[in-house]
Amino acid sequence: MMNRTDLQRKISEILPEIELRFDEPMAKHTSFRIGGPAEVMAFPKNKEELAALLKTSTILDCIPAILGAGTNILAPDRGVEGLVICLKDCMGGMEQLDEVHIRVAAGVTMTRAAVFAAGLGLSGLEFAHGIPGTVGGGVYMNAGAYGGEICQVCQSVEVLCADGNVRNYTNQEMGFSYRHSILEEQKDIVLSAVFVLEKKPVEEIRGRMRELMEKRSASQPLDLPSAGSAFKRPVGGYAAALIDQAGLKGFRIGDAAISEKHAGFAVNLGNATAEDMQALLRQVSEIVYKNSGIRLEPEVRIW
Ligand SMILES: Cc1cc2nc3c(=O)[nH]c(=O)nc-3n(C[C@H](O)[C@H](O)[C@H](O)COP(=O)(O)OP(=O)(O)OC[C@H]3O[C@@H](n4cnc5c(N)ncnc54)[C@H](O)[C@@H]3O)c2cc1C
Repeated sequence: MMNRTDLQRKISEILPEIELRFDEPMAKHTSFRIGGPAEVMAFPKNKEELAALLKTSTILDCIPAILGAGTNILAPDRGVEGLVICLKDCMGGMEQLDEVHIRVAAGVTMTRAAVFAAGLGLSGLEFAHGIPGTVGGGVYMNAGAYGGEICQVCQSVEVLCADGNVRNYTNQEMGFSYRHSILEEQKDIVLSAVFVLEKKPVEEIRGRMRELMEKRSASQPLDLPSAGSAFKRPVGGYAAALIDQAGLKGFRIGDAAISEKHAGFAVNLGNATAEDMQALLRQVSEIVYKNSGIRLEPEVRIW
């Protein structure tokens, strides 16, 4: 058997039934295609397996990192020590609860949730069609696009707390604000969310989804690895416009670059490292600040 770290050995002994991968490249699980190996990556199939993983992490004194679809993460080149719990494609399932409510599990992508709602003639998630992250990741950071935001349609969120208890937060308790929820401080794990939607003709909803997807394809560099908007929208401006005005379209450090197509996107041109990408974000923020007096903050979560 290959040499294993203590953590790899202990987790596989305690949880033999859970799918585990050792030294799994984060680059395979992030839309930037950047990031070194995760010491242990676990793929729980349900709440019970997730709870067992959390309990084991507490016993082993290791705080797990939660990964959805990895579409808003810059993972370090040196990799991630400890445990990464990947929920995409694991925590699945969607159901209609009544005329206007659906429940969606955390690992389902927002695009699939929007397609499911549309098929039921339920409107409200059209904006989420085309956001490549999971519902868990979307709730965590209050994802939004084209005037829509998770907080406008999310009625409640079921979470698994670090003490192993399951709790339900109301929309108000989630403390949603621009690209933020209380989960950034609390570290609870989203299990599922209930959305309250509005009845509309299926064709009208699908038409709106098609329209938004066309806008995305026309304006965003969807052919290159990115994490969507690299910076949050600052007070008093738009990140893309400020970057463009500073003459930074195409600005590049190594293979990390500001997209020529959309100045709000940082893209990986091939072999960008996390170090390149972080240096790019820092320098862009600096230059924009000198040019406009407005400080840009990364939207992408830097691990
Ligand atoms: C091409 C492209 C377009 C994009 N367009 C948009 C857009 O229009 N609007 C927008 O808002 N975003 C956009 N994004 C960014 C991204 O898709 C969203 O931020 C999305 O919400 C991230 O979800 P994820 O599952 O990928 O989360 P990840 O990137 O895996 O994780 C992001 C954060 O959420 C946490 N997290 C993930 N799942 C859970 C969970 N179940 N419980 C608790 N915490 C969790 C992680 O720990 C991490 O801190 C885009 C990205 C790309 C690549």
